[in-house]
Amino acid sequence: MDDMNHDLLDCLIIGGGAAGLTAAVYLGRYRRRVLVLDAGDSRLKWIPRTRNVPGFPEGIEGPELLERMRQHARVYDVPIEQVLVDALRREPDGSFVAQAGERSWRARFVIYATGARDVVPEGVDGFHDGLSAGQVRFCPVCDGFETQGQRVAVLGKAGHGLRESLFIAGFGNEVTWLAMASKDDVDPPDLEQLREAGVRIADSPPQQIECGVGSGVRVKLRNGQLLEFDTLYPALGITHACGLAAALGARAQADGQLEVDAHQQTAVDGLYAAGDVAVDLNQIAVATGHAAIAATAIHNRL
Ligand SMILES: Cc1cc2nc3c(=O)[nH]c(=O)nc-3n(C[C@H](O)[C@H](O)[C@H](O)COP(=O)(O)OP(=O)(O)OC[C@H]3O[C@@H](n4cnc5c(N)ncnc54)[C@H](O)[C@@H]3O)c2cc1C
Repeated sequence: MDDMNHDLLDCLIIGGGAAGLTAAVYLGRYRRRVLVLDAGDSRLKWIPRTRNVPGFPEGIEGPELLERMRQHARVYDVPIEQVLVDALRREPDGSFVAQAGERSWRARFVIYATGARDVVPEGVDGFHDGLSAGQVRFCPVCDGFETQGQRVAVLGKAGHGLRESLFIAGFGNEVTWLAMASKDDVDPPDLEQLREAGVRIADSPPQQIECGVGSGVRVKLRNGQLLEFDTLYPALGITHACGLAAALGARAQADGQLEVDAHQQTAVDGLYAAGDVAVDLNQIAVATGHAAIAATAIHNRL
């Protein structure tokens, strides 16, 4: 415990993606003692090339952006430890202790920036190749623009699949909703909306989906019909990685999205959340904005 007292940090940042690394830069520049604990699985790694990050008119590959953000944090001597934090607790004096196996770190404040995960469809052949080739996409807010003039399939049930199909259809493409259900299961007002937006509903649920580099997406329906698309959007939802914060008493919605106040503080005093874990608009710009707000709020309390 003496060692931990000696090493009392100003802030621990759990998660070293877009939000965590931005918080590291801000707190480093505020000359605070901080440490990033990161399991190394940022969603940035999945982005073939992002084109909506301000300052990169030609776009930038996700892994390269991640590496630049890490370098940026190191400029201010913020250490980044590659570990998966498996427990977070509060000491009687109000400080926080994060634990990873036998190791632990203690700090007055925590920024929780653990991100979110897209639900990946099962049984799609060549899924990862399709993802790196931009044939499988997860985020129409990010890259719907790139689907102009394309044949696009949306794989998602009920409300989520419906909303995503309508949203994507706004980009001047040809959208087919692989509803995973019969057309008869869609409410008449929804059917009308889909018709107005020009979205087709596949005649039967998909049986097999296949992606291949440069060869588009082939879908075999249960009725035997074969369809071809340029792009597939799985729309199966997202889960927010809220576990450690929720266990400390932070409030979360049913899908795990953490509730925060205007300064990004959760329901637990001193525990802040930033990025995908605390928002439904999963964007780099939002994550970095959150992090700037949280880091500055903490700096002002130290
Ligand atoms: C295919 C794809 C394309 C995208 N395209 C774009 C785009 O073009 N533009 C855009 O703005 N956004 C895009 N996004 C979204 C963008 O990647 C995210 O919004 C952004 O990465 C969120 O940053 P974050 O810091 O909240 O989470 P992340 O960047 O995911 O980082 C979270 C980090 O926390 C770590 N972590 C989790 N739990 C723990 C733990 N217990 N202990 C330690 N570390 C932990 C993870 O390993 C990870 O490194 C895309 C996402 C995907 C999947």
